[in-house]
Amino acid sequence: ATPMSIIAGIGRAAEFGVLVRDADALQHATTLDTLVFDKTGTLTEGRPRVVAVEPAAGVATDEMVAIAAALEQGSNHPLAHALVEHAGPRALAGVGGFRTLRGLGVSGDVAGRQALLGNSALLAQQQVNIADLEPRIAFWSAQGATPVLLALDGKAAALFAIRDPLRDDSAAALRRLHAQGYTLVMLTGDNPATAGVVAKEAGIDRVIAGVLPDGKAAAIKMLQRQGHRVAMIGDGINDAPALAQAEVGIAMGGGSDVAIETAAITLMRQSLHGVADALAIAKATLRNMK
Ligand code: ADP
Ligand code: MG
Repeated sequence: ATPMSIIAGIGRAAEFGVLVRDADALQHATTLDTLVFDKTGTLTEGRPRVVAVEPAAGVATDEMVAIAAALEQGSNHPLAHALVEHAGPRALAGVGGFRTLRGLGVSGDVAGRQALLGNSALLAQQQVNIADLEPRIAFWSAQGATPVLLALDGKAAALFAIRDPLRDDSAAALRRLHAQGYTLVMLTGDNPATAGVVAKEAGIDRVIAGVLPDGKAAAIKMLQRQGHRVAMIGDGINDAPALAQAEVGIAMGGGSDVAIETAAITLMRQSLHGVADALAIAKATLRNMK
């Protein structure tokens, strides 16, 4: 077990654009059986776009676009950016009583109306009847898009379908990891229907969806209690506790600083091929030391 070979292994990883913090990280990376991936910004590009706006009967599309963008100006969620960008100059200004409901959506008063914008869990929690939107929620979820719902004064007013495509090489990278024998898990706050479609496209084995931001670390703990040795791969601030909880935390370069500081390994190339490279190099390095 020479420190020299560890240094060589870390150097080799760096040639592949993978920054390994220390010997422990390399060592732990040889013991894993389960890899857990955040969805948005990790499996996907993290640049969601509005692909459809469907107002309720008798409601004007442009007005709903303007109100949704007004609310989302106060949020830095990727879905918020998509809605603001989609509205462009149509966005209204002036939101009263703005609130962020983590893992659910946002709320506030716009143009004299009480607005609520987010997922169906949020609208259900606020007793908004979404029966009329259900078929369209199911339709867009089945396309792998995330339905974001707008309610005004307690009534369902519009659905925004927002799509965030997989990174070009995510499916190929996950095929390599599958071939290496790992179980692949998706961990996301998005709804189970949308998450399931994206997971299938990516080649994921198991989906843990609808997880509130504080629940990601608990999900890793659950897998560990089931006897798994886990790497968490993520990019966001809300991934940091899960990155810390896992045997190995792996951050996407270009993600949040908090994720990068917490993780033992950082992927400079923003490609999940880096995960396969890192795990293979770790194993080869430790093999050479025996
Ligand atoms: P993730 O990063 O995996 O999407 P989050 O916990 O950030 O998980 O969000 C979970 C879900 O909550 C989102 O998929 C969305 O439906 C809803 N949501 C959260 N924030 C917003 C927002 N600002 N606007 C609309 N919907 C939101
Ligand atoms: Mg993310």
